[in-house]
This record gives sequence, structure tokens and C-alpha cells, in this order.
Amino acid sequence: MAVERTLSIIKPDATRRNLTGAVNAKLEEAGLRIVAQKRLRLTQEQAEAFYAVHKERPFYSDLCDFMTSGPVVVQVLEGEGAVARNREVMGATNPAEAAEGTIRKSFAESIEANSVHGSDSAENAANEIAFFFSGCEIVG
Ligand code: GDP
Repeated sequence: MAVERTLSIIKPDATRRNLTGAVNAKLEEAGLRIVAQKRLRLTQEQAEAFYAVHKERPFYSDLCDFMTSGPVVVQVLEGEGAVARNREVMGATNPAEAAEGTIRKSFAESIEANSVHGSDSAENAANEIAFFFSGCEIVG
């Protein structure tokens, strides 16, 4: 499998509970390298643009409010099959359905406040990485 990159976001519920390091430990234990990382507070415009694909979903407005409710940590992860590997270590969207040992099973508060975001395809990963990072900020 090829080495690839994916975008990860540690969401406000996790930064609020000081879990950045705990989430990063799970990512690194899963064989993913954090090759770029920054903490920021999303604006409403940024959250709406980032989640534009979910515009028609009933939870879109709540999701944007949640994502702007506190700091997030945006990161680029690198590794063999990084997109799928990260989705695996994140666990299911709903923590009640997430597998034991996954980030969401261990830390998520609810289906919305579920601690992490991860790109769901290589194509989306490229777009989402470019949304937050310039090339010189990513050091593999
Ligand atoms: P993901 O790829 O596992 O993050 O899941 P989705 O792309 O389907 O949804 C994006 C994000 O929207 C999720 O991570 C949750 O934060 C939120 N979300 C998804 N489903 C629901 C829902 O039914 N209710 C609410 N309030 N939020 C949801």
C-alpha cells in the first residue's frame, strides 16, 4: 500500500477536555505520523465551507456551531494507507457503535461531539489538507 496523507481534526469537545496528547498517542500507536499540526479557532465561515458537503443534512447548523465552540487542532497524518488507517483508529461516527480501543469509543461524548474528524477518501484528503495548510507547513 502506498504512503499517503490525510487530514485530521481534533474537535472542540476533545481540546476542551485537554485530550490532544491522548488522541495523538492513539494516532501514533496506529502507525500514523503527524507531519503538520496547528491549533486554531474556526470562524463560522470556515466551518460552513469545510462542511459544505453536509449543507442539506439536518444537523449542519448544529455541527457548524459545535465546530466553532472552542479550539480545534488540525493535522496532516502520513502513513501507509493513511486515509483508511485513520478512519479505522477513529471508529464509527456514533461512539455507541465504535469499536473498542478506537478514539471515538474512548473519548467521544456523542454522535456530534465525537472528538475527531478524518478525511474519507484520498481526493477529499487532498482538498481538506489544502483548506488548512500550505505545502511548506507539511514536513514529512
Ligand atoms: P464522519 O465522517 O464519521 O465524521 O461522519 P459524517 O461525515 O457522516 O458526519 C460529519 C460529522 O457530523 C460527524 O463527525 C459528527 O460530528 C456530525 N454528525 C454526523 N451525524 C450526526 C447526527 O446524526 N447528528 C448530529 N448532531 N451530528 C452528526
